[in-house]
Amino acid sequence: MAYDHKVILTDIDGVVFDWHTQFVNWMEMQGYKSTGMKHHDADIHLEFGIDYQEAVVKKEEFNTNMISSTLEPYGEADIWINKLYEEDYRFIGLTSFSDKPIAQYYRYLNLEDYFPTDCFASMIFLSPGETKREVLEQFSATNLIYIEDRILNVNSALRLGLKPILMSHEYNIHFKREPVFVANDWKQIYNYIKNQ
Ligand SMILES: [Mg+2]
Repeated sequence: MAYDHKVILTDIDGVVFDWHTQFVNWMEMQGYKSTGMKHHDADIHLEFGIDYQEAVVKKEEFNTNMISSTLEPYGEADIWINKLYEEDYRFIGLTSFSDKPIAQYYRYLNLEDYFPTDCFASMIFLSPGETKREVLEQFSATNLIYIEDRILNVNSALRLGLKPILMSHEYNIHFKREPVFVANDWKQIYNYIKNQ
């Protein structure tokens, strides 16, 4: 695969945007009570002590609501991704956010608020039931950097010959696996990339 720019693959929720905080606030406004034990988006039903299926419905409701276009950058993503953009990096976003056109529209709006239009050269929205592993396969053995907050996907990326970086959160703090770099924010990711 040939690119005109230096390319970085990245997950969006929990990496570029802080989906979690806004989703939890929105759930609490509707009377849902958080256990206070943070979980990854995929396991958010455990955070609220609700059925998996009910969480799927609530996530879809949230992601297709205009509120989902107002997520805040995570870990100073706006500062450091823009710095990388100026240094000729472009990003390919991989997200299981939603396959609904309205949700995808909100995601683009959200990105436009913080990044130049061509910063995210392309966005890949997963279809229902599709795994990140299946999508990552098209980038196998490229050694491209891939930033994620879900351990399952970091392991897939590693096996496929990518260079995963884990964005650290309470729910993945137990992860430790050479040679995966674990970052607390985008400044650390920036420095890691520049030292390659
Ligand atoms: Mg994520």
